[in-house]
Amino acid sequence: MAKSLCKWKKKEIEKHLHELAHIVDKPRYLCKDCARSAHDKGFLCKAIKLPLTHPT
Ligand SMILES: [Zn+2]
Repeated sequence: MAKSLCKWKKKEIEKHLHELAHIVDKPRYLCKDCARSAHDKGFLCKAIKLPLTHPT
């Protein structure tokens, strides 16, 4: 289980940049505490669903 992006430290972000790129690609959720985004709500502490902005 991945921990939420909200808890990532600067060092961890740099170290897992490649993984992070996948997590934030085409985000479907937003954290209403910290305004981070991710494609899965499991990566955020207070996830809310983003309205769709991408044309399908
Ligand atoms: Zn958060």
